[in-house]
Amino acid sequence: MTNQSISNDSEILMAQPRGFCAGVDRAINIVKEALSRFGAPIYVRHEIVHNAFVVNELREKGAIFVEDLNEVPKGGIVVFSAHGVSQEVRKDAQERGLQVYDATCPLVTKVHLEVVKMCKDGFTVLMIGHPGHPEVEGTMGQVKKGIFLVEKLEDIQKLSFPDDEKIAFVTQTTLSVDETKQIVDALIKKYPNIVRPRKQDICYATQNRQDAVKFMAPQVEVVIVVGSMASSNSNRLRELSEKLGVPSYMVDDPDQLKAEWFVGKKRVGLTAGASAPESLAQSIVKRIQEFGPRQVRSLPGVVEDVTFSLPKNLAD
Ligand code: SF4
Repeated sequence: MTNQSISNDSEILMAQPRGFCAGVDRAINIVKEALSRFGAPIYVRHEIVHNAFVVNELREKGAIFVEDLNEVPKGGIVVFSAHGVSQEVRKDAQERGLQVYDATCPLVTKVHLEVVKMCKDGFTVLMIGHPGHPEVEGTMGQVKKGIFLVEKLEDIQKLSFPDDEKIAFVTQTTLSVDETKQIVDALIKKYPNIVRPRKQDICYATQNRQDAVKFMAPQVEVVIVVGSMASSNSNRLRELSEKLGVPSYMVDDPDQLKAEWFVGKKRVGLTAGASAPESLAQSIVKRIQEFGPRQVRSLPGVVEDVTFSLPKNLAD
């Protein structure tokens, strides 16, 4: 593509907020702190956060990512990812004598505690979430029984509990706010006495990034979401802008950008999932500018000031 096809007032509009949330920031810092304190290797169960750039950077520093704790030598140091783990995994780590540093996001832990309390209070729990996602496996794995997964509206038709069953629900933290509302409304219609979490489980970062895309999408002709395929919240951002009628692409490397996406488009919108670093977003902005000159403009939006401290056994 040549520069002549882009007019001088072409712009890249940057969504606010975008990129790292407090839980991701904390999880990465836990791995870095463990590496600096104990040296390599530090084992990490599952990708610490779902971003290839972040994972590769930590791998270069000496982190070893594993899916199963039997890949960690006896007595080794292991970090649990931000998505959280089941009680079974915790027990396994203990039995293997592993030294654990837990990077589960405190907002995921909040959902874990809710599930345990609901089950203890005699409720059957419905978890709204995506099957196979590590957060869902970790949350459902807080209890041995009495929890069921609901992914979509059709799943609700298949539920059949006795009239006197006490039912409650929780959700994955990174879902589409709008789609989850539809599912919750349908659940309330079917089970009017269903008990909801005291505070919505979809986290502040997911909500804010989706709100920012809703604000940005009507002002642009194409949206680029910086995020990796495995990232739930990044996928939801791409789906959301697509639903708002804007062609949307998700990339986690500048080389994945295609010049034809920008042909004839004056305004490009850019956002980044909660696991995507700002340095990656900036390198993607630079590559878009190589396709033709564009001003970069930050949109107004929520300024987040949430921070989470390191786990006690690492903060000392
Ligand atoms: S997206 Fe939300 S739940 Fe997930 S790590 Fe970030 S703050 Fe925590």
